[in-house]
Amino acid sequence: MKPSDDMNRLIPRTQRLFTPRAPFITTLRPVDNAQIADRLDSFAAVLELADANPYTARAYRRAADTIRGAPAPVAELVRSGRVRELRGIGRGIEGRLRELVETGQIAELAELERELAPDLVGLGRYLGISAKRSIDLARALGVRTADELREAAAAGRLRDVPGIGPKIEAQILEALASEAEPRARRGLLLPRAWDLVGGVAAALGGEVAGDVRRWRDSCEQLAVVSAAADPGLLVARFAELPQIVAVVEQDERRAVGVTVEGVPVELVVAEPGGFGTALLRATGSPAYVAALEPLPDAVDEEEVYRALGVPWCPPELREQPFRVEPPALVEVDHIRGDLHCHTTWSDGRASVEEMGRAARERGYEYLAICDHTPAVGAVTGLTADDVRRQAEEIAAANEVLAPFRVLRGTECDILPDGRLDLPDDVLAELDWVQASVHGGQRMPQREMTKRVEEALRNPSVRCLSHPKGRMIGRRAENALDLERIFELALETGVALEVNGLANRLDLSGEHVHEAIAAGVRIVCSTDAHSVQGLGNMTLSVVTARRGWATAADVLNTQPLERIVLSR
Ligand SMILES: [Zn+2]
Ligand SMILES: [Zn+2]
Repeated sequence: MKPSDDMNRLIPRTQRLFTPRAPFITTLRPVDNAQIADRLDSFAAVLELADANPYTARAYRRAADTIRGAPAPVAELVRSGRVRELRGIGRGIEGRLRELVETGQIAELAELERELAPDLVGLGRYLGISAKRSIDLARALGVRTADELREAAAAGRLRDVPGIGPKIEAQILEALASEAEPRARRGLLLPRAWDLVGGVAAALGGEVAGDVRRWRDSCEQLAVVSAAADPGLLVARFAELPQIVAVVEQDERRAVGVTVEGVPVELVVAEPGGFGTALLRATGSPAYVAALEPLPDAVDEEEVYRALGVPWCPPELREQPFRVEPPALVEVDHIRGDLHCHTTWSDGRASVEEMGRAARERGYEYLAICDHTPAVGAVTGLTADDVRRQAEEIAAANEVLAPFRVLRGTECDILPDGRLDLPDDVLAELDWVQASVHGGQRMPQREMTKRVEEALRNPSVRCLSHPKGRMIGRRAENALDLERIFELALETGVALEVNGLANRLDLSGEHVHEAIAAGVRIVCSTDAHSVQGLGNMTLSVVTARRGWATAADVLNTQPLERIVLSR
């Protein structure tokens, strides 16, 4: 492609205004905890860009989290000299907070931002070039804003920059001119995606849409829908949000901003009378929406569905075209207990009693303690002796927490030859045995399937943990033959887990769908390693919902008697 062709492709898209976000110093003086936390997060982000000590950046992020969750107004704690009573706020961070509260800015943050151009870095990452290369480009070309970078690109000046060959130039030009829907280059895990898009939606009084609303396990398409007769104010506020470092596309009722990581977030500002229609469209999936089109204009989604004569569909099911009455999907409120969590006996952060109490506070009836066994390797695992000693602690917790029940369980490693990592007599004493493959996920299919089959035939095993062993974005699924495992699960009564850790979500929605079709019971579990980790139940349940699971398909919607007797 000739550079002149590229330029021609660039010119018609004049509606794409690269608007550098206004610097923090001109925005409002922070008053509430969320605003103070956002500034600290911004500071952490520029420290990372500046290749500062990574420990420092992490300390600022942790402090931001603490401040976000602090019950008292942090500005007042700073003024009264008490802010260091908060966890993770040391003398250094206190100084920054004092400066921020007294002057409305952190001078070093403003200076680093001037130097590092986070808007260029965010844009560069969105276009597929590294932070360092973006900064090099900015320095070599003397550009200060994304707009100027674009002009320089159109004028063919990119190739003058050391390290930018024709290939990278072409890549940047193509990305700049791309007509495709804005998508994150690497999917975001759900907690981060909700944090980002939920924060933008809350700030603009809008609703979360896109992949996040459908609870996809890796979110690429991030969107927020708001409504306003006059969209100008919302679009301007969007551009000023601390999460958004540059606006890369802008129409009257639509804008795309990028974060400093280069993740694009789309804002749609609907006419108030068409909010429901805009929300449905922006939620997707594209295939699902296309099959419903043409959509009538309506103020809310229910109204759109009513006008179409189609039953309302939960966002989790909107992957494929679908027009009939959806099944009554399982809900978090149906869950009566959690069957997979860890304690300080292995790699958890809370004691047996603390975990039990927290589960009881969630309204559960039971909780299975499933600490690791020695073969797991990387962390402490419990031997047969340890498991028996832990029984005493569990009995003591049960006395305190009754009628709530803490179950004796294990997350027992499946060794490469299919044997389990605890003796049979110990396994037989337990209330609940999870069997897990940790090491050796890359075995060929026959070996892996035989290994797991062998383990599931042990009469004490009740559930197979994270069956496909994937780590979202990092490790592909293992080769386990699920069809064979479904047959065996039906034969033995073993259940399959839907692990709620955000980077696992395993079984995935698709595999849950297949398991249920085969008649296999699933278990929604958190694999919590802390009290807060019990909150992963939401992610497990939405993943089961994406697989069309009803309460009847999920074993731990049942009372304890049914579970203990179910195999
Ligand atoms: Zn595990
Ligand atoms: Zn676990």
